[in-house]
Order: sequence, then C-alpha cells, then structure tokens
Amino acid sequence: MEQRAEMLTKDQREEGRDRDSFSMEIESKSQNEEFARVVVAVFMSRMNPTLEEVEDVKTAVSEAVTNAVIHGYQENGGIIFLKAQIEDRELTVSVADHGIGIADVTKAMEPMYTTDTTGERSGMGFSFMEAFMDQVSVQSKEGEGTVVTMKKQIGR
Ligand code: ATP
Ligand code: MG
Repeated sequence: MEQRAEMLTKDQREEGRDRDSFSMEIESKSQNEEFARVVVAVFMSRMNPTLEEVEDVKTAVSEAVTNAVIHGYQENGGIIFLKAQIEDRELTVSVADHGIGIADVTKAMEPMYTTDTTGERSGMGFSFMEAFMDQVSVQSKEGEGTVVTMKKQIGR
C-alpha cells in the first residue's frame, strides 16, 4: 500500500512534463562514433535546437564515444551503451562502457591530461564535453567501466 502511494506521488510529480527517451547499444568501433552523434542529433531535433546547440551536443557525444572506443575498450571492441532523455528543455545524454575504467576521474578530467603515449591525443576530450554541455559527470571504476552523463538546456 505504501509503495502504491509513493508511485502515485511520483506520477503526480511528473504530470505535465514533456519526457521522451531512447536507449541503444552499439559496437565499440570508430565508425559508430559518427552513427552515435547523428542519432542524438536527430533525437534532439524535436526540441527545435539552434544549429550551434546541435553541433555542441554532437561534439560532446563524439568525444565520449571516442573515449569509450579508444580508452575504455582499448580498441579491442565491446558494447557502448548510449542513452538520451528529453525532459522539458533539458537534454541528458549518457555514454557508458564496460571497459577498463578510470583510476582517478578528477585527474582524467583535467585539461591536457592524457594517458596516450603515441602523441595522437591532446587530452582535451573532457574539456570539450564540459565546454559544450552545461553539466558533465563521470562515474567510473577500474576494471568495471565508465559512465559519462551530460546535460544541456536547449533553447530558451
Ligand atoms: P583527446 O580526447 O583530446 O583526443 P584524451 O582522450 O586522452 O585526448 P580526454 O578525452 O580528456 O583526453 O580523456 C582523458 C583521459 O581519461 C584519457 O587519456 C584516458 O586515460 C581517460 N579516459 C577517458 N575516457 C575513458 C574511458 N571511457 N575509459 C577509460 N579511460 C578513459
Ligand atoms: Mg578523448
């Protein structure tokens, strides 16, 4: 009975909110980085975003997916979990992997910090995500994987 009352309260709380979401699993391959960002761009188009907002989100998604492919799964393949949710004017995108995880998230998020030794990466991925989205949070555990959750208000 108590549980039922709780559910009703939750329904009432969410009444009148415009919510929508999708969730998908993609193979950890660099070609799917383009696929992931286009899917999110099409999904968010119902929010009537500006071109700049779409570009910002696409860049952030691209950085997060690239990180999952390169760092999380170390280019050995795996599954990337992509989710997006619209709640009123707020877009939330999450990119998750079950890869190697990050030992020190605070350090990893510092501008120009990279564990890359080839000289190909600049360590700016998280900085771009933070610059282009309103909020970026990273949950990670070594040996278990990483979840990057990003939020952005679209339009006014
Ligand atoms: P750039 O994005 O500029 O090409 P980068 O990927 O090294 O370079 P960031 O995207 O800022 O830079 O990531 C910083 C570091 O965080 C990475 O070098 C890597 O060590 C770690 N990292 C990021 N994402 C993941 C992930 N999904 N799994 C494991 N480690 C990660
Ligand atoms: Mg990166």
